[in-house]
Amino acid sequence: MQDAVLEINNIEVIYNKAVQVLRGLSLRLPRGQIVALLGSNGAGKTTTLKAVSGLLALEDGEMTRGSVVLDGVDTARLKPHELVRSGLFHVMEGRRVFEDLTVEENLVAATYALTGRRATSADFDLVYEYFPRLHERKRGLAGYLSGGEQQMLAIGRALIARPKVMLLDEPSLGLSPLLVENIFTIIARINREQGVSMLLVEQNASVALAVAHTGYIMETGKVVIDGPAEKLAGDPDVREFYLGMA
Ligand code: ATP
Repeated sequence: MQDAVLEINNIEVIYNKAVQVLRGLSLRLPRGQIVALLGSNGAGKTTTLKAVSGLLALEDGEMTRGSVVLDGVDTARLKPHELVRSGLFHVMEGRRVFEDLTVEENLVAATYALTGRRATSADFDLVYEYFPRLHERKRGLAGYLSGGEQQMLAIGRALIARPKVMLLDEPSLGLSPLLVENIFTIIARINREQGVSMLLVEQNASVALAVAHTGYIMETGKVVIDGPAEKLAGDPDVREFYLGMA
């Protein structure tokens, strides 16, 4: 079996010491792959990403059982910024960019946060190669970018820090079908050409399974089915009962 860059082992998560949202969820992300994490609204996909990146505590969430292992290291004792320095970058839902900073300043801030070093021109070139539109807008304020451009910047901020693992939360949210296709083509290229492993949370199952190697489908806090992405996408029962696709 290919080695896993990220392993989630049987985790349980509770919010506010009361609401249990994850109920024994396990998942493995083989190095170099894209794994799609799918499921209906409220199934616990975003919570899973927060459990991995250490952001649960910000919302009174707590992992009460199980473990998350990043490149062989149990992350339990690592703080979010230490996780980031270990090569994990969480691209949050809703394209959280710094709206009052320019595109370029957003990229500078991201590099510094992850690596503690200054971004070099090679770092910028890498981002602008994938997102030429960001190059055109590099001196513009991020707050004035369109939704699609902000999503590009959110991914660009992850890319510039050259992480091992990207957690991507709903990159398709609120974008037109054409833009979704565009962004997913770039996501697949970054995975292929830069070797970044990705855990991709998506409502849009068909685009996610088209770029992913493996898919996991969750329902109320645990995985109900997993398998090769192509197989899931081609299975009429999976499509109808779990993915709400005709
Ligand atoms: P969506 O696509 O709607 O984001 P999801 O599968 O990502 O769905 P989560 O956002 O992880 O699901 O939410 C799972 C459940 O946890 C939901 O019932 C939600 O109401 C609850 N939940 C999420 N965040 C919190 C929080 N901070 N406090 C309490 N409950 C929460």
